[in-house]
Amino acid sequence: MLDKQKYYSDFEAKKLICEIGRRIYAKNFVAANDGNISVKVGPSTIWTTPTGVSKGFMTPDMMVKMDLSGKVLSGKMKPSSEVKMHLRVYNENPEVNAVVHAHPPVATSFAIAGIALDKPVSSEAVVLLGRVPLAPYALPGTQEVPDSVAPFCKDYNAVLLANHGALTWGTDLIQAYYRMESLEHYALMLMYSNNIINKVNELNCDQVSDLIIIRESMGIKTGGVPPCGLGDSEISPAKQPDHTPSKDEIIESVVRKVTQEVLKNYVK
Ligand SMILES: [Zn+2]
Repeated sequence: MLDKQKYYSDFEAKKLICEIGRRIYAKNFVAANDGNISVKVGPSTIWTTPTGVSKGFMTPDMMVKMDLSGKVLSGKMKPSSEVKMHLRVYNENPEVNAVVHAHPPVATSFAIAGIALDKPVSSEAVVLLGRVPLAPYALPGTQEVPDSVAPFCKDYNAVLLANHGALTWGTDLIQAYYRMESLEHYALMLMYSNNIINKVNELNCDQVSDLIIIRESMGIKTGGVPPCGLGDSEISPAKQPDHTPSKDEIIESVVRKVTQEVLKNYVK
């Protein structure tokens, strides 16, 4: 991953966008020509994906370079109309260096149901992703879309777009992509526990605040705090797990998970 405020070169950015595009397509996070990806290569310039192309079949020469006002600087193709939402994230939060938009089916189903992903049910999701709010529905391609995500760009790492999809961002493209993976994984676990197993033991407020301490010690200041103490899901009566993990056990498990994620990034 990149150090803070260090940017990819043009060559690296275009190559990495193609790689992440192949991954979001292979993982079924997008269908046909859906989705878009962008990466900063300077304080006010980005490379982004073109309109009308499958994210699974892109080549570096298809990419479009733009400034943060939306002016095209180079590239033979047109940018996606949804790039407005990316530009808004960069303009609202200068620490963001990459944005990924996709329609992952489970998370998007929550967005269709109008349900934010904010239940504290998974320690990894609380630490690495945080609370995922729901932005109100906006017609794709219009100014309403960037306006709908603007309130969330500073304090969160991801947002669901009602009846549309999901948007994640990060200090580099790998982090923005991993947040999209974590978001869909978290949505899938919520769906299984809520609708297949029909039982959800939510983390209590002490457990959530321990996780927030771990998250802050990792330098992650964003993600919000999932609401706790509201009782478990309506499907099952409130019940705490038989074994409440100690702080050391939680730290050990989070460190293990983070190590696995880092290794996954290097061992390809
Ligand atoms: Zn979309």
